[in-house]
Amino acid sequence: MNSLQEQNQGGSAASQAKPDYDVISVGAGFAGLGLIHYMREAGMSIRVFDRASDIGGTWTWNRYPGAATDSEGYYYCLAFSKEILQEWSWTKRYPGWEETHRYMHFVADKCDMWPHIQLNTEIASAEFQEDSGHWLVRTGSGEEFTCKYFISGMGMISEPYIPNIKGKDSFKGPCFHSARWPQEGLDYAGKRVAIIGCGATTVQMLPIVAQTAESVTVFQRTPNFVMPAVQKPMTPEWEKEIKDNYEAIIEKCRSHAFGMAFDSPVGRNLADTHPDEVQRVFEEQWPKGSFRFVFETFDDLLSNPESNQAAADFIISKIRERVNDPELAEMLIPRGYPLFAKRPPLDHGFYEAFNRDNVHLVDIKDREPIVEITETGVRTTENLHEFDIIVLATGFKAYTGGIETVEIRGRSGETLKEKWESESKSIMGVCVADFPNFFVITGPQAPFANLPTSIEQNIIWITDCIKKMESEGYDVCTPLADAEDKWSAHTAEIHDQTLMAQGDKVNSWMMGANIENKKPRILIYHGGADVYYAKLRESVNAGFPELQFDKLAG
Ligand code: NAP
Repeated sequence: MNSLQEQNQGGSAASQAKPDYDVISVGAGFAGLGLIHYMREAGMSIRVFDRASDIGGTWTWNRYPGAATDSEGYYYCLAFSKEILQEWSWTKRYPGWEETHRYMHFVADKCDMWPHIQLNTEIASAEFQEDSGHWLVRTGSGEEFTCKYFISGMGMISEPYIPNIKGKDSFKGPCFHSARWPQEGLDYAGKRVAIIGCGATTVQMLPIVAQTAESVTVFQRTPNFVMPAVQKPMTPEWEKEIKDNYEAIIEKCRSHAFGMAFDSPVGRNLADTHPDEVQRVFEEQWPKGSFRFVFETFDDLLSNPESNQAAADFIISKIRERVNDPELAEMLIPRGYPLFAKRPPLDHGFYEAFNRDNVHLVDIKDREPIVEITETGVRTTENLHEFDIIVLATGFKAYTGGIETVEIRGRSGETLKEKWESESKSIMGVCVADFPNFFVITGPQAPFANLPTSIEQNIIWITDCIKKMESEGYDVCTPLADAEDKWSAHTAEIHDQTLMAQGDKVNSWMMGANIENKKPRILIYHGGADVYYAKLRESVNAGFPELQFDKLAG
C-alpha cells in the first residue's frame, strides 16, 4: 500500500481490491516522463506504455533530416528538477531531434524512470469497469492490466495523417510519412526525392535534404508564412545567464500566452504606431529570429486584422527578397488567409533552398494537381515526375488522433472516438465527461503552447486531483457534462473572436480541417496559456468543481 493510501482512513471496500497499478499511462514522451516523476512523488505506482522502441515520443518518431524544436531548447524542457535544469547543457538555440532525445534519456536515467516504462507495447483498448472503478487496459498482444487512473500522454501532434492519394502503395521505392522516417536512417544522397506537403516539417527538412540529394521536388498546396528561426550555438556566457535565471525563465513561460519565455505583451499595438516605426520595429526584430517576431513586436497582431495584414505583408516582402526567381517567389507567397490561421513554421534556409538548381516546386493547387502516385513517381494533371524516394510530409491528426488509436470506452459504453465524432469536447483539455478516472495531457480544447510547459501544468492538475482522491478515500471521479459544456462554450466563444477561426478555410490542423471528410471543430483554447494555467490552479483551489467524487459501496 502506498503512502497516500495508508493515510486514507475513509476508503471503501471497493478501493481495497488493488489494481495492478495505480496509474497506467500511454506515451513515453515528455508527458510520460513528467507523469512518472509527479506520480511517484505522490506515492502512486505507475506504468507507462509506448509502442515505440525507445522513449521520446515526437523526438523518437520524427527523425527526418533537420527535425528540431521551434521553441528555444532551454525552455523546451521539464522543469520539475532544478538539478536537471542546471546539469543539462544544450548545445544550440534550437536542438535537433537527436539532442532533445538525448536530453530525455538523461532525464530518464537521472531519475531512474526506466523500471516504470514498457516499450514496444501498443495499448489497444481501455475500458472503465463500473464495479471496481478501475480501468481494464489491453495491449495489442492481448495482455491485460488494471489501474485506477488511466492517462493519455499520447501527444497532440503524434498520429500521422496520410491522405488517400491514389496509387500510393504502388511506388517501388521508399514512400513513407515524415514522422515515420526510417529509424535506422535513409541514404538519400544522389537520389531524386519528392516531398508532398509544405508545412513545418518540410520547411525544416528541405534545406538539409537538398544539400546532398540529386534533386528535391516539393509538392505544395497552400504556401505558409515562414519566419526565420536563426539558429545559434549556446555560448558559455549565454548558458550561464540562463542557468543563473532558470526559475525566472520557467516562471516567464508559465505567465506567457503561448507558454514561451518571451517578453510579451510588449504594451504596444501596431494599430497605434506610425508606419515608419512599425517598419523599424519589424526590421529590428526579423534578424533575431523565432516566434518573437510575432510576440515581441506588437500585441495586436493576432487580434486586429489590419495589424495582422501589416505583419503578413512584411513577411511576404521578405519572401520576395529571399527567393531569386520572382515567379517562384510568387508561388511561395501565402494569400487569402491571416498570419496564424495556419501554424506558421520557422525556417533554417527554406526559401534560400529554392535558389538551388536541384530544388523544384510544384503548385498542386492551381497548376498541376496530383492525380496519382505511380510505380516510379507522382503523376500530376500535367506531368509524370519520377523519383527514388517519396516523403509524405502531410501532417497529423492533431489533438485527438493519438488518443483515438486506443479504443477507450467510458461509463456509457461509448468510445472516445465515437464521442468526438463531430465535436471534440473536454474539460480544459484534461478530462472528458463520461470517462471517469481518465485524464488527458494536452487534449482537445487545451491551449496550443510551448508543449513541455503545458504538459507539466496538466500533470500538476492531474496529480493534485489524484492526491485529493487518495487522501479523501474516493474511488471514482466523474467529469461533469455540465462543466464540459461550459468549457466548450467558453472555448468556442473565444475562438470565434480570433483570426485563427479562419483556419477551416485553409485546411488548418488547428481546427482538424486538414483531415479529408472530417468536420472542422474547435480544438484549441485561444484564451492564452497563462490564463488557462491560472484556471487550472483555480480549479485545484476550489476542490475540482468540474468533477464529482464518489466512494463505491463496500
Ligand atoms: P502540416 O503543417 O499540417 O502540413 C502538411 C502539409 O501537407 C500541408 O502543406 C498540406 O497542404 C499538405 N497536404 C495535406 N494533405 C494533402 C493532400 N491530400 N495533397 C497534397 N498535400 C497535402 O504538417 P507538418 O508540416 O508535419 O506540421 C504539423 C505541425 O507539427 C506543425 O504545425 C507544428 O505544430 C508541428 N511541427 C513542429 C515542429 C517543430 O516545432 N520543430 C516541426 C514539425 C512539425 P495544405 O496546407 O494545403 O493542407
